[in-house]
Amino acid sequence: MNGQNKYEVLRTYFGYSSFREGQEELINGILTGNDVFGIMPTGAGKSICYQVPALMFDGITLVISPLISLMKDQVAALNQAGIYAAYLNSSLTQGQYFKALDYARKGKYKIIYVAPERLLTESFLEFAIHADLSFVSVDEAHCVSQWGQDFRPGYLKIEEFLKKLPKRPIVGAFTATATKEVQQDVVRLLQLSKPRVITTGFNRENLNFFVLHAKDKKAALIRILRTHYGESGIVYCITRKLVEEVYERLSERGLEVSRYHAGMSDDERRRNQEEFTSDRTQIMVATNAFGMGIDKPDVRFVVHYNMPKNMESYYQEAGRAGRDGEKADCYLMYSAQDVHTNQYFIENNRENEELDEKALASVMEKDRERLKKMVFYCHTKFCYRKYMLNYFGEKAKEYCGSCGNCIEKIQTGSVQTKQKKQLVYDTGVLNGRKLLAATGGTKRTAFDNPELYEQLRALRNSLAKELQVPAYVIFTDKSLKEMSMYLPVSRTEMLEIQGVGQTKYDKFGQEFMNVISKFKEEHEVSPAKVYARAKIFAHPQKTPTSIDDK
Ligand code: ADP
Ligand code: ZN
Repeated sequence: MNGQNKYEVLRTYFGYSSFREGQEELINGILTGNDVFGIMPTGAGKSICYQVPALMFDGITLVISPLISLMKDQVAALNQAGIYAAYLNSSLTQGQYFKALDYARKGKYKIIYVAPERLLTESFLEFAIHADLSFVSVDEAHCVSQWGQDFRPGYLKIEEFLKKLPKRPIVGAFTATATKEVQQDVVRLLQLSKPRVITTGFNRENLNFFVLHAKDKKAALIRILRTHYGESGIVYCITRKLVEEVYERLSERGLEVSRYHAGMSDDERRRNQEEFTSDRTQIMVATNAFGMGIDKPDVRFVVHYNMPKNMESYYQEAGRAGRDGEKADCYLMYSAQDVHTNQYFIENNRENEELDEKALASVMEKDRERLKKMVFYCHTKFCYRKYMLNYFGEKAKEYCGSCGNCIEKIQTGSVQTKQKKQLVYDTGVLNGRKLLAATGGTKRTAFDNPELYEQLRALRNSLAKELQVPAYVIFTDKSLKEMSMYLPVSRTEMLEIQGVGQTKYDKFGQEFMNVISKFKEEHEVSPAKVYARAKIFAHPQKTPTSIDDK
């Protein structure tokens, strides 16, 4: 083990001051030599759970990941944070691959991302057998299970690979999949040995859920986009044809849009995805082919232009919003036609051609049942969040206070007094919220200095372009928002900002501080104000929003 403790690692490399729910238990498990299995929703912060131990072990950590685009972004993010990491997959030319492998042999990398299909190749195996492997982390571990929708045969090779090593490293598995069958498969097929299993709740506090029964969906979509002007969002459509239509409509209005569906060439899809993740376009119109492997943390809204086929798909797709933990809105536009379309897909299911008649009938029956539950969701008069969590087998509060139905109840005063009290109590400050007519968007808590925020974003985007990395790899929206509120102009102040670690400070800190200093001079921000902020700053558990609300 190297000298740094886990808190130092978290602060120095990632710029965070505390662990989130579940992270510390998982890290402790790994550091004490146990296999672990982390089941946490998207955005909970699974990567930190293996990256922190990776930096503390003497040896190398392998991260097995199914997604080439994700590996590239993760490695770019680690490199920017001053961590030696690389990826080995089919996107490299043979020359690049062997060069990377050579560096790996020489011990240049602390963390190596690898595609499962590589594990048993001669060259990789030869490297792995002779390397000092401390830890193997299996990302998206549900891919090992045929129960899930993302089964990857390559994942079945992981166990075989581990068996070939002279000494079995610690193994960690991570997934956001909630179903029991899949979880059992992960433990069994990866042969995790007495794993510590940590499941955090599936609630995503920062997501607000809305259902719109809109007569004119196109008009409703435009209204939503208006409330989210300048923010990144995804619009999911049920068919390719509809993607094209909506895309055309939005482009005609001069909006910066990309599109994505399985009918386009690989090359075109890659380009469009890149446009969106690097913030050159704000809106992505896509079928459900888009998403898995999109590691864009600052997606502020997801619109389902059509009702999806079941709650599992809905939660997964809507869950691509707000991975950075900041508020984000999820809208589902319901129409009776969507029910028919989904029914048609179920009755004409072509994915399961190998199934015999009886098995097929049972699959269809399950699908119909799940569709029914999806339709109920769209029609419930009660809390959407509660419905969802109950569906996934979790208990939930009667009212979340921030979904479409809860907000409406508060505004129309239709909840009974006692419940209302509970509701207000549950949700804390509610008076600031307003249901934005027709769209149901939540009011964003205003943060100070939007002008400065825009300047910082512009700087970030130009640096990203220069370095050819996604913008959030430099700093996330959250970090920039904090900078625009707290106006850090010294090293100490800058390091207090969430997401600013040592290396990023060294690389980018000065440039951002220059912009902030200039802003301060131009706006003559008074010392008193700065001092007041500094005090807030000293108590990070008080979030800026709650202070501004008072
Ligand atoms: P997951 O893989 O579970 O979907 P990620 O690992 O991508 O989630 O993390 C989501 C976001 O949360 C990232 O932007 C990450 O940097 C941030 N994050 C993770 N852990 C923490 C923490 N302890 N404090 C603050 N932010 C964190
Ligand atoms: Zn609610």
